[in-house]
Amino acid sequence: MLQPLLKGIRLAPFVECPHCHALSQHGTPECKLCNTKLDSKDLNLIVAVNLGARYTPFIECPNCQRLVKVGTTRCPDCYEEIAETYALTSAATVVFNTVACDVANDLRSFDTFAMLIVPVGIGVYFIDRYSFGSPTLIYLALFWPVIPLLSTILWFYRFGNFALGDDEYLRAKRRMRRTLTLWLAITAALIIALAVWWI
Ligand SMILES: [Zn+2]
Ligand SMILES: [Zn+2]
Repeated sequence: MLQPLLKGIRLAPFVECPHCHALSQHGTPECKLCNTKLDSKDLNLIVAVNLGARYTPFIECPNCQRLVKVGTTRCPDCYEEIAETYALTSAATVVFNTVACDVANDLRSFDTFAMLIVPVGIGVYFIDRYSFGSPTLIYLALFWPVIPLLSTILWFYRFGNFALGDDEYLRAKRRMRRTLTLWLAITAALIIALAVWWI
């Protein structure tokens, strides 16, 4: 699930072939693989994102904000008409939110490592102090925050400036900010500890 983080997120409307499930670009008249006629009015329009991950998104009703299935032309609740161009944009927005939140959730697993660095750091400190007499292994500890720090920064780069984010997205963004602060603090603490040792 970290792939969208590395490659970015590309949203494009695709139609899924009802017969062989291959994806064709929205507007393609028939499936290239099995020649089944494709009708974008069918319920099988999906917004596929990059990278193997398929998201069958929902559309947010422009009137009552209810999430409806892609392909719905009229909201079942408020009977608002849902135009196809609106549907594509809305579906893309929903997918973007989902992917941004999924990736943020995955990145949170790094937080567990953040807690581990305290005992590991102390252990390494004693090994250095009594076996080497000077900072040695502790330099390796400096690499510890690199990956989580870079991934979190990358998250902000990829997903951080999304104006159409929903509540869940905003929560994920707040969590990412906390994660970023946490890792910056750990990096700073490591650097200060090393500096103090050298002085
Ligand atoms: Zn097909
Ligand atoms: Zn509605």
